[in-house]
Amino acid sequence: MSAFSFEETISAFKAPPGTKLHILNLGVLSVDEAWLLEGANGSSVSNPNPTNKRRDLGLFAALIEHPEDGLILYETGCAEDLDLKWGAQRVDLFPRTVYTEAHTLPAAIAATGNSIADVRAVVIGHLHLDHAGGLEHFKSSDVPIYVHELEFKHAAWAVATKSDGGVYLADYLSLDTSAGLGLNWQTFADPHVELFRGVSFHHAPGHTPGLVAMQVNLRRDGTFIFTSDHAIVKENYHDAQPQGFLARDHVSWIRSSQMLKRLQRSYRATVVFGHDLDVVNKLWAEKRVWE
Ligand SMILES: [Zn+2]
Repeated sequence: MSAFSFEETISAFKAPPGTKLHILNLGVLSVDEAWLLEGANGSSVSNPNPTNKRRDLGLFAALIEHPEDGLILYETGCAEDLDLKWGAQRVDLFPRTVYTEAHTLPAAIAATGNSIADVRAVVIGHLHLDHAGGLEHFKSSDVPIYVHELEFKHAAWAVATKSDGGVYLADYLSLDTSAGLGLNWQTFADPHVELFRGVSFHHAPGHTPGLVAMQVNLRRDGTFIFTSDHAIVKENYHDAQPQGFLARDHVSWIRSSQMLKRLQRSYRATVVFGHDLDVVNKLWAEKRVWE
């Protein structure tokens, strides 16, 4: 445990004047609800053959225009060529049902009036294939890719030993350090860290060992917390409903939920979940850029 109290480790700095936040639309995946919610689609004596409900999952990333540190990207979505990168079995389980040219990472960034070529830092909430696949765009660049040390180690172990390789893929982990082939990995091990003024990251293990949520303190629109897949959909958070096949460390997950809910209360934050389309559609209906 850290020697510091929770309050002492959380920065109350606001992002600099002129900071802008965008939520990028990277398409939609379809998935059986049993991956998201414990017990979903399970049979009972009275309903021995339930209809397997599926759910549409939004694919999101957050882009911050930071006057001091430039363009910061939180998460990257899936690889562009899903069929090739994921293989037939994953595509059959989790087909990407909405995806046009506009949903590619470069196009989604361009729609905000920015260019992917100007991204100065990437932070990955966790390294699963639907959050880190877009790192393919940063190979052969020197853009720092920030990730929690435990996540980086776990992902490399999971792929190399096939221990949890279904949800992590080797190609975007890119351990090659030759010039022009690798990624500029940068790890941190802090439970709470402010990498950019007003933009901090909170270690929230459970869904994966090194997942980090992002907190952005905006001057006009207040604080936003992006949970990555700590909460895939709102029921994981509001109803404390554990994840289904995607659950891993339950006790850590419960503690992370407690931490994030304390944060939300302290900052009266708007919370954005990993894939909840309803939540983001409501936000998009109000505005497309927050300041
Ligand atoms: Zn995900």
